[in-house]
Amino acid sequence: MTVEEKIKGRKIGVVGMARSGLAAAMLARRYGGEPFVSDSKAADNLTAQTDQLKRRDIPFETGGHSGRLLGADYIVVSPGVPPDADILKRAADKGIPLFSELEFASWVCRGRIIGVTGSNGKTTTTTLLGEIFSTAGFDASVCGNIGLPFSQVADKIEDDGVAVVEVSTFQLERIADFKPHVAMILNLSPDHLDRHGTFETYKKLKYRITENQTADDFLVLNLDDPEIAADKIVSAASRVYFTTKGVTDSGAFVRDGILYGVQDGQETRIINAGEIAIPGPHNLQNAAAAVGAAMLFGIRADVLEKALRAFPGVEHRLERVARVGGVDFVNDSKATNVDSVCCALRSISTPIFLIAGGRDKGGSYLPLLEHGRGRIKGLILIGEAREKMFDVLGRDFPTVFAESLEEAVTKSFELAGSGETVLLSPACASFDMFDDYEHRGAAFKAAVAELKDRRKENETIAD
Ligand code: ADP
Repeated sequence: MTVEEKIKGRKIGVVGMARSGLAAAMLARRYGGEPFVSDSKAADNLTAQTDQLKRRDIPFETGGHSGRLLGADYIVVSPGVPPDADILKRAADKGIPLFSELEFASWVCRGRIIGVTGSNGKTTTTTLLGEIFSTAGFDASVCGNIGLPFSQVADKIEDDGVAVVEVSTFQLERIADFKPHVAMILNLSPDHLDRHGTFETYKKLKYRITENQTADDFLVLNLDDPEIAADKIVSAASRVYFTTKGVTDSGAFVRDGILYGVQDGQETRIINAGEIAIPGPHNLQNAAAAVGAAMLFGIRADVLEKALRAFPGVEHRLERVARVGGVDFVNDSKATNVDSVCCALRSISTPIFLIAGGRDKGGSYLPLLEHGRGRIKGLILIGEAREKMFDVLGRDFPTVFAESLEEAVTKSFELAGSGETVLLSPACASFDMFDDYEHRGAAFKAAVAELKDRRKENETIAD
């Protein structure tokens, strides 16, 4: 069946009115389909979305899902919709096919697709690949679970273009024909088990990224991750590996501090690991993964080197904000769990004043003791979790409490000396004090900017 036949004149139900759902409905409309969008949220919370739909004359309903969805030829499900939502069950019982927005968008994409999945590092690797492709002069779109829905750009990508798509497990749950030319599984650790049940189920869902690949396609896997059981993955694709600990004859590896790409056993030096702009061992893995994938498109070593030197990383992930009075301020607001904070601590070589705390997520803070030893010089704790964190960490690290993030920035600056680092890496959710981690990161950056301004004023007065 051609794409046109799949969409034109078809009644397409869309569940969920967030960015992906809206983009899917508009895509359906562009191809002559008859979308109908439905969301369980009340109309008051969806005015921006419903305005957009009205402007395009796309019918919708809010405040619940009526039987109208069950008249659809198929339903496109947005990633945020719970899999056990009653409407999906009713649709499935009626035999109505359910597709994820990723699946739907992929029908109209003429360019080659790189699908990036894994538990951690997806956004960084996806964005880095975008940088590599644009440095190489490719027409590449970075999209997916990253802010720009695949549906919004998929049909605009030409035959020789590339879609670098960040792929979540939620999207893989409802694929049928999704077939990336390059599928990447970066790493696997237990995540979202509240939604997917067991770790085994979660892994199997991740492996689905390769299920439609053929011998002309590639599967890029992390050789260092014991959870990625290469032998359990059923795939017709050619395998490419990346490793920062071992070697491979196809993909990318690190030897004596140098990152190499390798194809058909032929090694090519790419860059000194120390010259890659994004810091830390985890980012070296992300860089190796990106190199392994990019070389499949014939991208040369000098282009890869240039991009890896230049790519500053993604906002709120070990983001260098400013140097004030010799003190470096780093925004790692995305670190909402203890593992991410350990990653950050391993990535900074100067003494660290760690600003942490927020809404507790029920895990243990003990790993911070081991990873913080010899690295954390002082702790500045904020938010609801600060007492709990103090109980675990307060004996080992000099600790102060702050009432706000602004106060934490001021206090940390008083404590830190030249050549040291103030790191916001909270290990907690942000919702006790902020809308989300982006809001928290922005507040941190604003507080640092204000601190910088205050110092400048003082210096001017002293002059
Ligand atoms: P994702 O999109 O998968 O959430 P990000 O690129 O946004 O990943 O990174 C989020 C956090 O995950 C980072 O701040 C870092 O702590 C951690 N991280 C990034 N890359 C890796 C990796 N390769 N292995 C383990 N942890 C990582």
